[in-house]
Amino acid sequence: MKIAVVGTGYVGLVTAACFAELGHDVIGVDIDAAKVERLKKGECPIFEPGLEELLNQGLESKRLSFTTDLSSALPHVAIVFSAVATPPDEDWKADLRAVFAVADTVATHAGKNIVFVNKSTVPVGTGTQCEERMAKILKERGVSIEIPVVSNPEFLREGMAVGDTLMPERIVVGLNGSLRQSSGQAGSAQVAPWAKDIIEDIYRPITRVGRPIVFMGRESAEIVKYAANAFLATKISFANMLSEFCEVTGANVRDVVAGIGLDGRIGPRFLHAGIGYGGSCFPKDVKALMATAKEYGIPMPIVEATDAINVHQRARFITHLLTHLAPASTVAVWGLAFKPKTDDMREAPSIDVIHALTKAGHAVVAFDPAAEEKAKPLLPEVKYATSPLDAVKDADALVLLTEWDLFRGIDLKEVKAAMKGSALFDGRNVYEPAEVAEAGLTYHCVGVKMSS
Ligand code: NAD
Repeated sequence: MKIAVVGTGYVGLVTAACFAELGHDVIGVDIDAAKVERLKKGECPIFEPGLEELLNQGLESKRLSFTTDLSSALPHVAIVFSAVATPPDEDWKADLRAVFAVADTVATHAGKNIVFVNKSTVPVGTGTQCEERMAKILKERGVSIEIPVVSNPEFLREGMAVGDTLMPERIVVGLNGSLRQSSGQAGSAQVAPWAKDIIEDIYRPITRVGRPIVFMGRESAEIVKYAANAFLATKISFANMLSEFCEVTGANVRDVVAGIGLDGRIGPRFLHAGIGYGGSCFPKDVKALMATAKEYGIPMPIVEATDAINVHQRARFITHLLTHLAPASTVAVWGLAFKPKTDDMREAPSIDVIHALTKAGHAVVAFDPAAEEKAKPLLPEVKYATSPLDAVKDADALVLLTEWDLFRGIDLKEVKAAMKGSALFDGRNVYEPAEVAEAGLTYHCVGVKMSS
């Protein structure tokens, strides 16, 4: 299948490279000319395990190419996947300007039937808005071609994006939502059967090995993405809510979540207490869901509480940290990215924590295995170390903010020997208290009565 993927960021580039890996002919499109030049040379602009190899394999096989000009790609493709950014606006609603720009370009330049797929996370009704804009443009052009608008939300996890794309737990496809709903037939694709056929062909290499593809109405597919992220964020906030309760009651939140997570109906994943969720998806998607629901007059108290707990948890951690540091301390920070195995700094908890530290007069020396380049413009006040041990040298305190594997296995006795002080603030609850004590460090973690 001949495919254009518009937006070559964390989602679009992985999608384009994986589609090429699966045997399709893919043109990646981005308005960022510098990024496109790097991609043409096989340079991966983001840190994502396995992606650079796939990028180069795609270029070598000539199944993957890049351009800044979507209109020139359109005659060569049957389908356009739009994976452009939908960042929050000032009211935390999704800014859809890039999505509409892509839809408008497709409608303005398409010379034949073509499928338009929204892979970006967009509020319910965006597909209909795209459809209406495109219909208007086609009418003005006086051409009679079909451009079915499909929703195909993305569930990949940064750091595991290649595996998640090649072997997803599910593929959700929303086709012609309102029309399909009135027909009352789940999974039917009566409005644009050829569009459904194209989608099925593209994903066949994945569905053939047993991965499920779920067809539904377009509105439902648009909501699935927000509902999934809000639910996962709620599990995190639930654990964080319990962590405060555990701290005052003398319980240990790790034991409590282990005790409930073994219940098959609950499950252990996303039940870890810490400094709260960050990243480019959970904070923005939780708030965008609240904003859309408000527009429809529908209360979302659970989602609101999830967001409020996240803010509270971050503030509690920072307050505890600042309370225990001597004036003008030198603080080593391990981990800057919002989670391990990525260089993504969007809404990373490290930004809030480091800003609070430097504002209070402390010096910060940080180490992150992948995010330094992206962190520097956001955190110019930080001194960047070359290794975990380099960061802790002569530090008064150590703060763990991202649970990269190399921090988990480190010899804490060596860490203590390099430090001037002995306080370890573990924002991710990764260490065993006994091991920390044995190394001569004072442990401050989340969800256990902290030392006063
Ligand atoms: P990103 O910022 O990494 O990438 C977006 C890309 O789109 C950039 O390269 C940008 O230059 C390009 N772009 C912007 N406007 C354009 C236009 N008009 N034409 C062509 N290119 C344009 O964003 P991302 O993290 O890949 O996220 C993309 C979408 O996918 C968002 O809606 C996001 O919420 C969603 N999503 C992200 C993730 C994730 O883990 N990052 C996971 C699932 C869904």
